[in-house]
Parts: sequence; structure tokens; C-alpha cells
Amino acid sequence: MKLTVVGCSGSFPSAESACSSYLVEADGFRLLLDMGNGALGELQRHCGLYDLDAIFLSHLHADHCIDMLAYFVARYYRHDGGRCAPIPVYGPEGTEHRLTTAYADTPSASSMSEVFDFHTVKPSTFEIGPFTVHTERVRHPVEAYAIRVEHDGRSLTYSGDTGVTEALDELARDTDLFLCEAAFTHGKENIPDLHLNGREAGESAARAGARRLVLTHIPPWTDPEVNVRDAREVFAGRVELAAPRATYDI
Ligand SMILES: [Zn+2]
Ligand SMILES: [Zn+2]
Repeated sequence: MKLTVVGCSGSFPSAESACSSYLVEADGFRLLLDMGNGALGELQRHCGLYDLDAIFLSHLHADHCIDMLAYFVARYYRHDGGRCAPIPVYGPEGTEHRLTTAYADTPSASSMSEVFDFHTVKPSTFEIGPFTVHTERVRHPVEAYAIRVEHDGRSLTYSGDTGVTEALDELARDTDLFLCEAAFTHGKENIPDLHLNGREAGESAARAGARRLVLTHIPPWTDPEVNVRDAREVFAGRVELAAPRATYDI
């Protein structure tokens, strides 16, 4: 499968990057993980506006889902007068209501469902197109999920937003690529059940036996090189920084 970083800035966009959004492709199927601020624009560098086959939202903080409002406009009010058929959207309990409320004036309370086919995520294993996915609840102030995407014997594990949790270590067991958030700086911010720092992301990767660690969700005010250095101190595998438009063959 192929992973493309659409956006990787943490919490708010940077001058260089949109917020969280990652395109995963295999067998011609396109699954988007998260659609944060600015992601819809960037996405169009990588595929057509209507070429997505499914969307997974790790949680409902704006930096992971807010461009779904713009995507609703694009799908509901197509310039050719048609309306896009609903595509599967996997998100936490209440995703449709939250997006509808944020949009403020959809034609009806169920308008979003005309272009999005909402599915409520719970910790489980299921199929999305050619992928087998495993979801696990992680530690964050709102209901939040990490996801492991498997295809053809290979795996990608995406942390979403989380504090330290064994559930993430287990989900990322022996994973080929661990796309893990590192929003905090070791020794600086220390708020439980919110975000990981570079060292904690490295420790999680080490416990999981991940093959490769890609740090992401680093806010513009955090020094990414410090987080990479901290992760390398505790994880012997390859560590790198997510960057907009970077691609990985997994
Ligand atoms: Zn976030
Ligand atoms: Zn969050």
C-alpha cells in the first residue's frame, strides 16, 4: 500500500502544512485518514476531488475533521448540479451531529447523510475496501481512536491523538510503519492523556517492535528536531519526520 502525507501539522496549520490528513491507497482504493484544517486543498494535489472511496476520522477535534465541512459543500453542491453518492465515513459516536452542528445551516438535519454514509467506530476489526483495519480507543480528552491498516501482509498504524497507552503499543505490534503523533516536547509539556512527546512516541514504537517510526502532528511552535532526537534515544529503528507530500511504499 502507499501512504501519502496530505497534512501533518499538529493542532493548527503551519505555513508549510495542513493539519492531519493521510491518504492510504491499495488496489486502486483510496482511504483518507483524517481531514483537518487545509487538508481538502492539499488532497487535490494527490487525487481528484471525488476520487476518495472512504474516510476515517480518528476523533472530532477540528484539526482532524473540520475540512469535512468543505468536503460536504463539494459533494452536496456539485457545480454540474448533481449530488455525489454517499461514501463511507468512519468516525466516533456523534460524528454526523457534530459536523452538521459545526456547519450550522445544512438544508436539513440529515443532509450530511445524503453524501456521507456514517459508520460509528468502536474498538474492533473490520474491512474497508481492500484493507483490514483494527481500531483501538486511545487516551485523549474526547473519544479518540488509533487505527491499524493492513493490506497484503503489510501494516500501517496511525496513532491519532493520544497520551501514553498500552492499547497503542498493542495495536502497533510489529507494524511496518508507525505514524505516531509527537505534539509535545519531552521535559517541557507534561499533561497526561493528551499528547505524546518524541521520547514517548519512541518508547511506544520500541515496545511495539515497530519497524519504522514517522513522527507527526508536531505543532508549529514545537521544534521537530528535538522530538526526532528524543525518539532516537529510545528507539533503535528508523525515525523520521512526516512532511507534506511525502510518500511511503509500505
Ligand atoms: Zn490533533
Ligand atoms: Zn485531538
